[in-house]
Amino acid sequence: MNLTERYQKKLDRMQTADAGLDGVLVQIEVTNACNHKCVFCPNADSRRKKKMIDFKLAQRVMRECAEFLGDDKRICFHMNGEPLLYKHLSELVRYSKELGYNYSFLTTNGSLADEKFLTELFEAGLDSIKFSINAGSKETYKKIHGADDYDHAINALKFSWEYRKKTQKDIKIFVSCVGIKDNYEELVQLNELAKQYSDEVVFYYPCSYAGQKTDQVEKMYCDMSKLPIKTFEIKHSAPCPVLWNSINVTCDGYLSLCCSEADNRLVIEDLNHMSVKDAWMGSKMQRVRKIHEQIQEGIIETTPCYSCITGKQYDENKIDMDLFELALRKQ
Ligand code: SF4
Repeated sequence: MNLTERYQKKLDRMQTADAGLDGVLVQIEVTNACNHKCVFCPNADSRRKKKMIDFKLAQRVMRECAEFLGDDKRICFHMNGEPLLYKHLSELVRYSKELGYNYSFLTTNGSLADEKFLTELFEAGLDSIKFSINAGSKETYKKIHGADDYDHAINALKFSWEYRKKTQKDIKIFVSCVGIKDNYEELVQLNELAKQYSDEVVFYYPCSYAGQKTDQVEKMYCDMSKLPIKTFEIKHSAPCPVLWNSINVTCDGYLSLCCSEADNRLVIEDLNHMSVKDAWMGSKMQRVRKIHEQIQEGIIETTPCYSCITGKQYDENKIDMDLFELALRKQ
């Protein structure tokens, strides 16, 4: 599966009645801390306290999901934040393989991915790594990422490619970049370099991340359609398949509707006090799914999804407080 197929799979409509629990993605935010401050990233402006997931909680979530999900088990160790800041990352990757997850992957900015760390991750069984590299030169990279790590990221990419060649392991290596006005002139250059060391290079359009970056998206946006690069635009509509396709767990131990939010405004249940299965199949999730199903084209004003779907800021007074009490309380 390449990167665009993986995204498409997540965005494809899943009929709950017959789709079963095969292929549901488990996403674990091992940390919301990050050593970069990318201009398009909602996490860069997040006010949420930075923390690392409790190792035992992460293991419990993975174990419970492995028990109730189908045979096609997929897990991602990234939502917000830089996952390589989490010191138990390789242990979690190894544990995922012990539990029978057939596809374990993550996204990283690559700045901390030295040869030792990468080797540990690959030896633990990581199936796929995506490097988020958002510029084609050191100068622009520093401006966009807020850190001078272009060389580290490129070296990590090259090492991963060579490691795969040497070991013949079945590891997928991807590169992604958010195309914006600031890096537009370098996108083709980045593509030419990155495609030599990866299976696929994909350029995303900036998105509002559930309304967090609504104002900025318009200012950053540039049309990439004329460039000889592969682009992908993430667009959500109701009913949103992510509600059926993905179990998203924040580093605080909350179940979130999706991975697109840095300030916990989409959290709906507290997994510190209930099982993942009870939460994900429970009455609150079912109610949100119902709201999405009933209003095919309409505006889902009682949920924060309104922002994600319409690109406009939601009105907090219209949010269903029974469903999102936890999210609003945690702001
Ligand atoms: S905010 Fe709502 S509509 Fe947007 S991706 Fe998340 S669940 Fe889907």
